[in-house]
Amino acid sequence: MAEVRLEGVTKSFGGKVAVDNLNLTVEDQEFLTLVGPSGCGKSTTLRMICGLERATEGHIFFDGKPVSWLPANKRDVSMVFQSYALYPHKTVRQNIGFALKMMRVPKATVSEQVLQAARTLDIEDLLDRKPRELSGGQRQRVALGRAIVRDAGAYLLDEPLSNLDAQLRVLMRAEIKRLHVDVARTFIYVTHDQVEAMTMSDRIAVMRDGVVQQCATPEEIYERPANRFVASFMGSPPMNFVTGELADADGTRTFRSPALTVPLTGPTSPATLPDDPRVVLGIRPEDVTLSAAPVAGHHPGKVFVAEPLGPDVLVTVRIEGELIKARVPTPFRLGHDSTVYVGFTPNRLHLFAAADGTALH
Ligand code: ATP
Repeated sequence: MAEVRLEGVTKSFGGKVAVDNLNLTVEDQEFLTLVGPSGCGKSTTLRMICGLERATEGHIFFDGKPVSWLPANKRDVSMVFQSYALYPHKTVRQNIGFALKMMRVPKATVSEQVLQAARTLDIEDLLDRKPRELSGGQRQRVALGRAIVRDAGAYLLDEPLSNLDAQLRVLMRAEIKRLHVDVARTFIYVTHDQVEAMTMSDRIAVMRDGVVQQCATPEEIYERPANRFVASFMGSPPMNFVTGELADADGTRTFRSPALTVPLTGPTSPATLPDDPRVVLGIRPEDVTLSAAPVAGHHPGKVFVAEPLGPDVLVTVRIEGELIKARVPTPFRLGHDSTVYVGFTPNRLHLFAAADGTALH
């Protein structure tokens, strides 16, 4: 059992704040991902949970017990690093069993547990090889094996897939997700890759400049981003943003910019008009529709460029001065500079205050 709770955790290096007053509870057996751009404080947070770094302020609790003063080896956690850190001269079997050996676990038990970890990761046939005789993906599995061979309440993973090529990353992503189900423990995962965060996690904490911007399920982060930063970071290709003003026109709340006039309905229409009418309209490319013939309420534009993605085509359309990206099903037959009519799926639009980027729900 391991619920991990951070209360008002701050970490400064010299005068510089790397993690700023972080409050976060990771439930027992949850898969929580810390995601954000380089330098936002993800690794520092993980290292404080692990005990490799001490918080400047605040407290960390495992199952309600304070652990802030416990050294790493006294905490019930096991960590996988980006660099793998395998011992080059030891076999896979010795690498996986090393931590147990150091803990003076009896030899027979070590053998048994190493075998069990190797079975879980499907690397039984590699146990007598040295790291240099393994592929990148196999090395990654050995690194995971070293972590899971120890029965810990929480497994902490710091960018474990970043050294792998794109194809292998996709494969290992699914394997780690399945591993979480099999070992049924708390996983705290750090990545800068929003796709990894979306696909693997029960919940995602999006960080920026040492501050958690939003902590929620992948669906909620995607459907209801708390601010413009979260909206822009999560989703590929990224959300379109258009700056304009909010007004009531003929009884309908309406977004207006030089290029677009968009009536807002349902969840996209804020209950009250904000004091500051300057807003940013957010539209995900999959919520943009294109038609060759005019449609009432759609905006005429010109095809700027079309990029085939396989099942979909990413079409950039110029409307007045704005470039809007649409993700539409293949085939898309209009050529460059053709006129196209652009519509937006009602109820799927996002509004943010222009001043500070906060979502207006
Ligand atoms: P990345 O994805 O690049 O690993 P990150 O989100 O994990 O980034 P951290 O490694 O946690 O970010 O770093 C957060 C901030 O703290 C950065 O500005 C970094 O330069 C700084 N920092 C981290 N460790 C130290 C250290 N030991 N001494 C001084 N500054 C540090």
